[in-house]
Amino acid sequence: MTINLLNYDGKGLVDFCTGIGEKPFRAKQLLRWIHQYSTADFDAMSDLAKGLREKLAVQAVIELPQIITDYVAADGTRKWLLAVGAGNGIETVFIPEANRGTLCVSSQVGCALACTFCSTGKQGFNRNLTVAEIIGQLWIANKTLRSNVSDNTLAHANRAVTNVVMMGMGEPLANFDNVVTALGLMLDDHAYGLSRRRVTVSTSGLVPAIDRLRECCPVALAISLHAPNDALRDQLVPINKKYPIKELLAACQRYLLAAPRDFITFEYVMLAGVNDSIAHARELVALVHDTPCKFNLIPFNSFPGSDFKRSTAETVRVFRDVLMQAGLVTTVRKTRGDDIAAACGQLAGQVKDKTRRTAGVRIEAIQ
Ligand code: SAH
Ligand code: SF4
Repeated sequence: MTINLLNYDGKGLVDFCTGIGEKPFRAKQLLRWIHQYSTADFDAMSDLAKGLREKLAVQAVIELPQIITDYVAADGTRKWLLAVGAGNGIETVFIPEANRGTLCVSSQVGCALACTFCSTGKQGFNRNLTVAEIIGQLWIANKTLRSNVSDNTLAHANRAVTNVVMMGMGEPLANFDNVVTALGLMLDDHAYGLSRRRVTVSTSGLVPAIDRLRECCPVALAISLHAPNDALRDQLVPINKKYPIKELLAACQRYLLAAPRDFITFEYVMLAGVNDSIAHARELVALVHDTPCKFNLIPFNSFPGSDFKRSTAETVRVFRDVLMQAGLVTTVRKTRGDDIAAACGQLAGQVKDKTRRTAGVRIEAIQ
């Protein structure tokens, strides 16, 4: 049976190497070739002995999700649709900004948590992504973005992807083990070498998993709050019935004990007439008064079949001002990649209907 080496972190590769009778230090070489130099070809791994390369070619593969489409929006946002078998697709979005490049990574095909305003949630749950499929998204983004510049041997200091947010399709903490292994690779100096604060896990609030993440890999934490009280949150984010706001905020406090200089990012989707009044903003201020936090207001992105409307820009501004006047750092998320359906909550991963988008530029067509 061939083994996909993309499923392994550093420790897994050490075990693999010793298992095939090789020295443990080979794992570091493999990590660097695979993740720093984006190599999927054992023959190119020039500092591995020929015998080892031949052994690897028989026993192992470096298998990535297949790129189905690759679009660039007018604002430079880039979206890949990747096939992960059985007609399933996942989406990965790269958002370039002046001083950083953020990759939005998916963790599941679909999502079981069924938040009422989310396109992924409306699809239902299909399956968890493997480590290879999660880290493969970063691999593909780095490789493709790097092939746009002439120097193909850049170390991670110069990489296009400087930040990762687990905010694509799925609930990362519901695919805990695979996500944590992938996070380990993102942080590993021999792989992607990202600092803990440049990697963010966004969760709808799986309290026990937040505690486990704190213990094993306390990266930056974003919480999809979306409502200032349980009555409203129960409707928007159904998992709230299991882990209500008070328990969620207590988990946030515990999380910050593991990372004392950090803060929690609260995401708040702005739904017209639902959660966007001044009274809601004031209720939020009272709710988070003892949690070091920032707010990120996300204008609702509609998708076919969605029941909600986006709050007006003026409503968002007034809401933001209430939070800011109370001393809460608040940003309004710019809607990026709208013309290629790459904005938050629009990721659906349809492989079959890949011709549906006409806006944006399809890379395959222009290369
Ligand atoms: N499952 C995780 C991460 C993926 S969703 C979570 O829920 O946190 C990333 C963010 O996009 C979440 O804050 C989510 O609530 C938000 N989102 C989902 N659907 C959206 C939509 N239609 N418009 C704007 N934001 C949306
Ligand atoms: Fe799942 Fe997050 Fe969408 Fe809720 S918002 S359904 S948790 S992906």
